[in-house]
Amino acid sequence: MIRTVTGDLDTIDGPILAHEHLQIDLCCQKGPEVVLGPADQEEVANDLVQAMSHGLQAVVDLSVFGSGRNAEVLRKISLQAQLPVICAAGFYWDPTPQIVLDSSVEFLRDRMIDDVTIGVDGSEIRAGIIKIGTDREISPAAEKLFIAAALASIATGAAVVTHTSAVAQAAWHVATLTAAGMDPSRILISHMGAARSVEDLITLGRSGVSMGIDKVGFIARRSNAELADLVAQACAVGLENQIILSSDVARRDRLLRRGGSSYSAVFVDFYPMLIERGVSQAKIDRMMCHNPHTLLHFVH
Ligand SMILES: [Zn+2]
Repeated sequence: MIRTVTGDLDTIDGPILAHEHLQIDLCCQKGPEVVLGPADQEEVANDLVQAMSHGLQAVVDLSVFGSGRNAEVLRKISLQAQLPVICAAGFYWDPTPQIVLDSSVEFLRDRMIDDVTIGVDGSEIRAGIIKIGTDREISPAAEKLFIAAALASIATGAAVVTHTSAVAQAAWHVATLTAAGMDPSRILISHMGAARSVEDLITLGRSGVSMGIDKVGFIARRSNAELADLVAQACAVGLENQIILSSDVARRDRLLRRGGSSYSAVFVDFYPMLIERGVSQAKIDRMMCHNPHTLLHFVH
């Protein structure tokens, strides 16, 4: 079962963008106030429809409590675009909300379980994945959040996605989540496109976690060509079973009307680059369809 903002689905057949944002605009500053307005929601829905014309079958919104999550808006966008949308349980880390600083692991665990089993932010819309992360410094609050997320994952069967602020944090993420009892195959470590070389992916891949090359089209960070080289090298050593591809759209200026390639970046810009580098369509499908599907599928 895959849990979307419009209900539970048995399966999703086709490409899934597993690390996106449909509401927030981080152009200027971070925090809960940077949500897109109603006019932008229309634009986001249009951009999703455009990506659907290239094959997109579902999208995961990884905004959480403290970073502009609004499940009602996600449901509106989902209905407007006629696209399954998965929303996330969890808490933000930049800055860490006061409730996280003040609360116990058990309280945070139970909040995440409620998000998945009852509804997010007082709504009846349930989360289908758990998201947490670390800021530049790994704080005691982050440790609480990671343990809480692991326990909520074990209790609900939902997977955990983590945000890394640096590739070197990934090892701590894996160690903390698995020490709390998590199966590594239920963990997705984000932003591994920042890896210095494929060696970083090979090393992390040995732990059994999945890795996100999830900023395709965000060329301010790394060019698509550099990311395509990295993905091709990873596929050449058999890591295609542990990689997901996404574009982490979180800025207005990446939307189509403002000149960006938006949620279509992976399909329109990146697929040809991978093919050119010898990555087979079967491997692309693995990264875009099978892997995100497996993560989103509740294990019980
Ligand atoms: Zn993100």
